[in-house]
Amino acid sequence: MLSEAKHLGPHRKRGLALGRPSNGVGNGEIGNVTDMRIDIHSHILPRHFWDAVNDDTDWFGATLDVENGKRFINTRDRKAGPVETNWEISMEQRLALMDSIGVDMQVLSMPPYFFNYHLPVEQSLGASKELNDEIADAIRAYPGRFSGLATVPLQDVPTAIAELERTMANGLKGAELCTHVNGANYDDPKFLPFFEAAHDLGAFIFFHPHAPTAIERTRSYYLANTIGNPLESAITVASLIFGGVLDRVPDLKLCFAHGGGYACYGIGRMDRGFQVRDEAKINDLKQAPSDYLQQLYFDCLTHSHSALDYLLETVSADNVLLGSDFPFDMGFDSPVEWVQSAPNVSTEDQEKILGGNAARLLGLDVD
Ligand SMILES: [Zn+2]
Repeated sequence: MLSEAKHLGPHRKRGLALGRPSNGVGNGEIGNVTDMRIDIHSHILPRHFWDAVNDDTDWFGATLDVENGKRFINTRDRKAGPVETNWEISMEQRLALMDSIGVDMQVLSMPPYFFNYHLPVEQSLGASKELNDEIADAIRAYPGRFSGLATVPLQDVPTAIAELERTMANGLKGAELCTHVNGANYDDPKFLPFFEAAHDLGAFIFFHPHAPTAIERTRSYYLANTIGNPLESAITVASLIFGGVLDRVPDLKLCFAHGGGYACYGIGRMDRGFQVRDEAKINDLKQAPSDYLQQLYFDCLTHSHSALDYLLETVSADNVLLGSDFPFDMGFDSPVEWVQSAPNVSTEDQEKILGGNAARLLGLDVD
């Protein structure tokens, strides 16, 4: 029976297809026919942070700083901004905006500058709990309109696992992870227990770039975002593949922001490296890097219909999900319309991207 998708926005009534299994990891096995629009890449600025600002104090070290008349969020890990109007909207304003652009459900996650991996673990856990409980509150307050992904203190894997378990028992569907943990890639064996736990919990894991590795040479022209972020995602995809993580823990639900960055465009070169270089084979991969790509998921946020075509050609329409990066200026203003205006994507594939895949992966379609 339908569960979290029962209560839809006032602008229309949508239905989910019935009778489909909810364990749909893997591709092409399930006909995803749903017209619910689910945005899996949408952020919420934490209420606790704004409360601290109003109290003229900091929130786990994060402050609102004013420079040249513009406001910036400074988490000591990153200065983000300038703050835009949408960063402070109420949940009612958010719902009205979602209705106006045809988004039925947002899968809420925090902006990446609140990962807090730089904090001592107890502080990071304290912040995570406040962030995650705020998302759980939104899910409960507006049934069917929100789902959510947790922030977990991955600088301490057992603590991160415990928080993932707690939050999923509290209604969240998985976690949003940075593309690295204080510079460590996910092929580091210390992260393997987290992926095993994510698998056992059926968690949806969303990788979001932050503090990109090429920061020194991308400080100008906003290149840290426009070039650094897609590079970050490509490194993370490659580390998981070449590190053998997908062999050790198959059937993970791993999704990457911004179409996976440069991962798909670069996969041919990774395949060639795997063919000709011994150091690419040290983890005894069972298949070529491009084969592992088919096990991964990507949001559609490429800002290029041609890039979306290439993403769909490289993986499949079962691997791509609606993602807007709401409420930030680098996101889509009207994500549903953008997908529906893709000239080379069939209506059936558009429906998978707009919500069918997300409903399946988040287990929203059946109890
Ligand atoms: Zn984002």
